[in-house]
Amino acid sequence: MVNMKKCAYCGNDSVSTREHIFPKSLLNRKNIDTKEKYNDKRVRYIRKAGKIFDGEPTINDVCGSCNGGVLSRLDAYTCQLYDNFLYKFVNKGESVIFEYNFDMLTRWLLKVSYNSARANNQFDSGILSNYIEYIIKGKTRPDRINVFVQLFIPYVEKSIEDIPPDFLRIAAVAPATLPDEFASIRIIGINSYCFYIVIPSKIKIDRRRWRNSIDVFKKNVIGSKRLNPNYKKIRLFASKENIVSSYGKNIEHNPEIITALNNYFK
Ligand SMILES: [Zn+2]
Repeated sequence: MVNMKKCAYCGNDSVSTREHIFPKSLLNRKNIDTKEKYNDKRVRYIRKAGKIFDGEPTINDVCGSCNGGVLSRLDAYTCQLYDNFLYKFVNKGESVIFEYNFDMLTRWLLKVSYNSARANNQFDSGILSNYIEYIIKGKTRPDRINVFVQLFIPYVEKSIEDIPPDFLRIAAVAPATLPDEFASIRIIGINSYCFYIVIPSKIKIDRRRWRNSIDVFKKNVIGSKRLNPNYKKIRLFASKENIVSSYGKNIEHNPEIITALNNYFK
């Protein structure tokens, strides 16, 4: 059956194709089998691969020319970043000189966030749709988009094998916990690299209050560093976060995570 839909990026009516939130090229790099059926659990443990993968429904509202054109160029950039940096787990005490193209990375993070928000009917899909122009054209960088990176380290305990942050996940910070200055915070985790994209709200923002909110964010996300849009590289230091500490607060609500950890503990 031919399914015509309005493209979420260019707005044209066209035949839609089913797509995963994370590009197949990245799932392949993580050895995640996309043929596996999704279930309702938010976080899945891919037994065969032994990885934590944030289960996502697919989207089917992007046209072939957006998908195959600009969006796939953003995917290709991230795959290149994966091959150079993201594939490697960062250990306690280590640092990395991380090289990045701010616009390519930020546009990709926004794209993945927008796709995930639509797929899950989340509060920020309208907010993220304001960035479509930047995602597909990349010409004018929006004001106050802040991207932070925090490096996760393996969980180490004497009696068991180390558990690396073998992640591919995306989440939105609960809107009730956001300060007025932030419309949304998206978290995209790829192995050790945990990216936070801070989306400013539309209200007129007082500079001092904005800076305070950013400071509070940095205090909560210990060891994170802001990517300066004008730079091309930054030295990142391993944080103290690991797979257990990141799920610590709500681990009892994530039976899949407990299964995942138990399997590692065997
Ligand atoms: Zn399109």
